[in-house]
Amino acid sequence: MNSFKTIYKDQNKFKVSFEVFPPKTEKGRENLLAELQLLKDYEPSYISVTYGAMGSTRVLTADLATHIQKDIGVPTAFHFTCVGTNKDEIKDYVSHLEEQGLNLVVSLRGDPPADKPFQAPKNGFAYANELVSYLNSVGNFSQAVAGYPEGHVESESLEMDLKYLKQKVDAGADIIITQLFFDNEFFYDFVKRVRDVGIDIPIIPGIMPIVNLSQVERITKMCGASIPKHLYEKLNTVRDNQDKVREIGLNHAIEQCQDLKRKHKTGIHFYMLNKSQNVTPILDLIM
Ligand code: FAD
Repeated sequence: MNSFKTIYKDQNKFKVSFEVFPPKTEKGRENLLAELQLLKDYEPSYISVTYGAMGSTRVLTADLATHIQKDIGVPTAFHFTCVGTNKDEIKDYVSHLEEQGLNLVVSLRGDPPADKPFQAPKNGFAYANELVSYLNSVGNFSQAVAGYPEGHVESESLEMDLKYLKQKVDAGADIIITQLFFDNEFFYDFVKRVRDVGIDIPIIPGIMPIVNLSQVERITKMCGASIPKHLYEKLNTVRDNQDKVREIGLNHAIEQCQDLKRKHKTGIHFYMLNKSQNVTPILDLIM
């Protein structure tokens, strides 16, 4: 059985993992699998497959995760959100994946449709900690939960955010994967605050190289991460020159990753946006 605990136990190895999203077309899927074959050379500890907003990729996520683990041969985690899903549906979905040998899960609450407040479904869950407890009661899963170095967009305060993070850990999560960030100081401060409240499980920094400015503006607006002013200004002056944006974004990510490797050591989870070329220039320098 794959387990995040076992993966992060070996503290001598710097671990990398990749997050992908399910492509909508067969061609996109073939391309992604070819990209992952290339990345296999970097010995990823696992690959994780996202779950579309409101469960929009239920079937695609399950199929892709099963396929990556079986055919590419890398342990694969499926993301799962409890938004809009009741307990019975959750059980059916995760049990089917467990039967396929998938027991690594990134367990999340998920987001409501735009501009609507989150509402717990009938006979479902309001928060990720409830999902973590439930999955541990219905199967043999190893779970990762989300952490937010700059705070979650809905949270009242960083302190309350940590209190709720602790509930997820106490419910049985094995690791924390963070939301993306572009200033490592947010991450180091987060790690300190997390340790101060007595959480001792591995914390994996989530890094997304900037390769397209409009795209990253959209993503950061949604998830609440900030782009440092000096970096944003540099990117904005070349925003219509894709090559330049990419060069600046990748150089920034390289600096972030080299610093994280020196100071944090556990590993890095890459939001690679389904393209190996978004991470290979970084991996070639840090692995
Ligand atoms: P929770 O931990 O439940 O927190 C949600 C909010 O409620 C927070 O503000 C928290 O402070 C508050 N809260 C928590 N518990 C309580 C409580 N008991 N009482 C009151 N308030 C509480 N989204 C997707 O749709 N698909 C994905 O595949 C996906 N993958 C992700 C992967 C990572 C690594 C990360 C960091 C995020 C991912 N997301 C994904 C986004 C995620 O679904 C959203 O950030 C969502 O808004 C919160 O999910 P959560 O699991 O952190 O929620």
